[in-house]
Amino acid sequence: MDEIKQLVEAQREKLVALRRDFHRHPELAFQEQRTANIVEAQLRTAGLDEIRSGVGGYGVWGVLKGGKPGRTVLVRADIDGLPIEEQNEVDYRSENKGVMHACGHDGHTAIALTLAAILAERREEIPGIVKFAFQPAEELGAGAKPMLAAGILHEPEVDTVIGLHLWNNLQAGKLGICNGPIFAGADTVEITVKGKGGHGAQPHQTVDSLVVGAEIVVALQTLVSRECQPGETAIVTVGSFHAGSASNIISEEAKLALSVRSVKPETRQYLLRRIEEIAQGIAGAMRAKCEFSVRPGVPPVINDPTVADVLRRAALATLGADNVLDNFSTTVSDDMGYFLEAKPGCYFLMGSGNASGGQAFPHHHPRFDLDESCLAPAVEIMIRAIFELNQLEKIN
Ligand SMILES: [Zn+2]
Ligand SMILES: [Zn+2]
Repeated sequence: MDEIKQLVEAQREKLVALRRDFHRHPELAFQEQRTANIVEAQLRTAGLDEIRSGVGGYGVWGVLKGGKPGRTVLVRADIDGLPIEEQNEVDYRSENKGVMHACGHDGHTAIALTLAAILAERREEIPGIVKFAFQPAEELGAGAKPMLAAGILHEPEVDTVIGLHLWNNLQAGKLGICNGPIFAGADTVEITVKGKGGHGAQPHQTVDSLVVGAEIVVALQTLVSRECQPGETAIVTVGSFHAGSASNIISEEAKLALSVRSVKPETRQYLLRRIEEIAQGIAGAMRAKCEFSVRPGVPPVINDPTVADVLRRAALATLGADNVLDNFSTTVSDDMGYFLEAKPGCYFLMGSGNASGGQAFPHHHPRFDLDESCLAPAVEIMIRAIFELNQLEKIN
């Protein structure tokens, strides 16, 4: 067993215990006070050179200066939970009613803290600087921007950003990575159809907003299937449709909410323009009016090929060639996209699922759980990557 594996192995029990402690005490976005306090205390115990708390909410920022000259790498981990009542029967089950770590951010936080502790122990050997961003409010896509605004990428200036998401769609022991977009960008669209309400027995006196809304829902289904190039990442999901209050009342108004996902700016522009045209066109043809609004969401997460190559090598050394899946991406979104918009970097997916172990439920499910055997290799991959990234001659 090589030295890095041994270093991580020595921390394995603590790492799992830390993850279970976070799991037991999940906190919602912008309420991560306990989690942030533990992160801060752990970084102090590890002996980091600089620690700031309260960064953009309950964000925590750490700086570890290595003993040799080199570049500056930022490791980003998100710390928030979700408004879900946990249905698992494990002994580390959530103790906060209605709140749960159902996305794996408990694991991300434990991995980054363990990484900080191990690197701090061996700081004399580290070329350059390693910074840590423990980011709040990822589930709202709202925690990254305030941390960036607080200057996390400066003082000292960051050269590259890395991070991971544990991934139950992938078996523990495997890893997914790619050059270019690994997570999609997401926007929310709201459409309000305004008709003319009235008596359900006298439809001729009304403009039925519910029927107009239904036509719009159906028409939107052909936007991706008939207008986007096959293979291009594009998703239009009508996630909510509200109209009407009783069987004998024709609804004055119908409200639709959509999630629109893509990785290319031109695809995003096209989808948003066409959704509005389709909605307005159908509403107009059916004598209704239509209001359209876009709430811009997070950008896609785009990996730099040079940095991704370093992560790929670190993953191969840790997991073996059979377990590193290339050209692997997802249509889920993550506000890590803001970090990688600002600096070249890499986000990867660390398999954490295990059907036979009961960890087969998807993210955001009340029975979501991790196969904890994925935690230690994630730390190992990060250590290997950081040593190489800190010595890279040139990053794109
Ligand atoms: Zn999530
Ligand atoms: Zn997540």
